[in-house]
Parts: sequence; structure tokens; C-alpha cells
Amino acid sequence: MSEHAIPYGRQHITDEDIAAVAEALRSDYLTTGPRVEEFEAKFAEYIGVKYAVAVANGTAALHLCTLALGVHAGSRVITTPITFAASANCVRYCGGEVWFADIDPDTLLLDIEKVRELIESKPAGYFQGVIPVDFAGYPVDLEAYRHLADQHGLWIIEDACHAPGGYFTDSGGRQQWCGNGAYADLAIFSFHPVKHIASGEGGMVTTNDPELYERLRVLRTHGITRDRGNLRYPDHGGWYMEMQQLGYNYRIPDILCALGISQLSRAEAGLDRRQKIANLYDEAFQGMPANQLRAHGIPTDGIRHAFHLYVVEVNDRLGLYDYLREHGIYAQVHYVPVHTMPYYRDIGYEAADLHHAEDYYAGALSLPMYPSLTQEEQEYVIERVKGFVGG
Ligand SMILES: *Cc1c(COP(=O)(O)O)cnc(C)c1O
Repeated sequence: MSEHAIPYGRQHITDEDIAAVAEALRSDYLTTGPRVEEFEAKFAEYIGVKYAVAVANGTAALHLCTLALGVHAGSRVITTPITFAASANCVRYCGGEVWFADIDPDTLLLDIEKVRELIESKPAGYFQGVIPVDFAGYPVDLEAYRHLADQHGLWIIEDACHAPGGYFTDSGGRQQWCGNGAYADLAIFSFHPVKHIASGEGGMVTTNDPELYERLRVLRTHGITRDRGNLRYPDHGGWYMEMQQLGYNYRIPDILCALGISQLSRAEAGLDRRQKIANLYDEAFQGMPANQLRAHGIPTDGIRHAFHLYVVEVNDRLGLYDYLREHGIYAQVHYVPVHTMPYYRDIGYEAADLHHAEDYYAGALSLPMYPSLTQEEQEYVIERVKGFVGG
């Protein structure tokens, strides 16, 4: 078995994908061209949101969100320690303070009760925003977060990098897709090759707010506008473009959007496959004593988990990690808690009681989960995991 290693996640590139990229290369546009808008429109339709802004990567998407929301030195924003560092770093890029609240050990999501306690432990107006993450693909109950945010005047950025196609069901019985902007002000996605939809590098911001949408578009390209109706000094001539604020070059090339569009057309098929893989893991690990292995599998009613990751917790994590590597299985850990990173320790974010996050980290391992993982490969993974932990 396995002349080649089995990673925890990987992209799936088809001949159609390659043809789409080749076509883009033969066209007039390498960078901003018609495929950018097409990708935005198709992605917005898939998620069920009004506006989408395609950008260079998920981190740029987060930075544009904090810029558009006016995060500045003195702003205080709450997020989860169990996420990729960029969810927190985007606040620091704008000089704001990051506050971490603990996770719910069952869902592994930012615990809304811990967020509420943190907010209520401070004077009114202390915090400006919250960044919940659909960790592993488990959709955050954003309806609950919206209630909390409205009570305290906070904005919400949903980091939906793990969850395109995931949804929860709200109190009105409606399926609310991750990133659809029904409850969050802004949401972001990544098209890094380990994510559901790969464009190489790439990201997307989604929103239903027309003002935020306009701000994101201008900030994406240097803060420069060429919109004639919107110029402060309109008398220069046809060449004139106006830099009105400090923006960035966070554009995504047309070439990469060609790949993104092609991949997006298979998003639902990929999600189906992820569900089947989760199902097989669930069945295999069912009934294993919790002191040996705790699987974070398919959740109950009304939720579609997008399964970017299939996470288990085990006692001897280092042992299992090394054992799997010896057998060609490259499991990974998501994540080392962000507040324990030297950068965050050095600026003093050590203090908080985040023991659920730290307990989770002590045993966490992400098993291979990607649409092109074959059943044979998955059975080999299961056999090795069980062989190591017992059962
Ligand atoms: C991947 C990821 C990002 C960053 O996306 P990039 O495209 O790699 O910049 C941010 N947040 C989460 C939760 C991610 O998984």
C-alpha cells in the first residue's frame, strides 16, 4: 500500500481545469479581466450572497475587511485561538488589539458564552468586533452572534475559509450558508490548494452591504478610483485616476480566476465526497472508548458541515502523528493555539484562561480529508489509526 504519501488535504486538478487556465493564458488578460467578475458572480450565486470581491488570498481578504470596518490602533476585536493565525493577524495589521476567548470543546468553535462573558466584563464600547471561524467546516451559529453583536454594537467578520457550502439552520427554519451575509457584516474565503476550491493563491470577501462592497473594491487596488462620478478633481482628462485613500494591491489574476471558476463548478460534488469520507470515519471510530479516540464527526440536524478537516483527539498525539508518518500518512495539527505563538506571547496575550483550546490542542490531529482520497486509501488510514490507538 501507498507508494506515495497520503497528505491531510490536497487539491484536485482535472483536464477541464487545465483547459480553462490555458484558455485564460491565450486571452488578452493575465491580471484583472473578465474572469475576475465571472468568478465573483458565480461564487456569490453559489453562497447566496449579494456581493463578492475576489482578492489575492484569504489573508488579504481579512486585511481588507478590517480596513473596510475601520479597525485602528485602540480597536479591540475578539477571535478564537483555534484558527489559522491570519484570523487574528488582520486586526494587528491595522494596529488593533486581539482578544482571544475560549472554544466550545464539543463544536471546537469560538464559545459564544465565553465571548459574552468577556464583553460583559468590560465597560460598554470596549470591543468593536468579533471574528468567529467556521473551524474545520462546522458552521458558526451566526444568528446568535448577531444578537450578541447588536446588543453591544459590534461588527462580525465570519472567517469561512473552511466552510464554502456549509450551512446552519436559523430559528426561522432557513438554511444559512456560510458567508451569505445574512448575519455577519463580512465573510472571507481562501482558495489555497488545501481548501475546497483551489486557485493556487486566492481569496474572496462576501457581503450584502453595498457600502462595504464599494470600500473593499477601492482598497483592493491601491485606494484608487476611476469612477468619473466619484472624483474629487474631475477636470484632468480621460487618463485621470484618483487615489483617495491608502489601499493595497490585493488583486487576483484572471489566470487564477479561470481555475477558481472551473473548480467552483465541482464544489458540490467535492462536498458530497467529503461527507462520505466523514461518514466512513464516523462509522469506523464509533464506539471507540473516548479515552482512546474522540472523533469530531458529522453533527446533528440542520447543519451541513463542510469538512475542510476531519479532526480527532487522541491521548498520545505525538506517537500517533509519528507512527502515521512512518506509514506514509501525513496527518497534520490544526492548530497550535494562536495566543501561544511567540509573537502573541511577546505582546502580552498570554494571560487569558483558554484551557479548552489548550486541552484540544494537546490531542488534536487532522486525518486525511479531500475529495480525491480513495476508499482504499481511507481504509488504510483507518486501519493504521486503529492499529495504533487500539480498538
Ligand atoms: C487558509 C486560511 C486563511 C488564510 O488564507 P490564505 O489564502 O492562505 O491567506 C485564513 N483563515 C483560515 C481559517 C484559513 O484556514
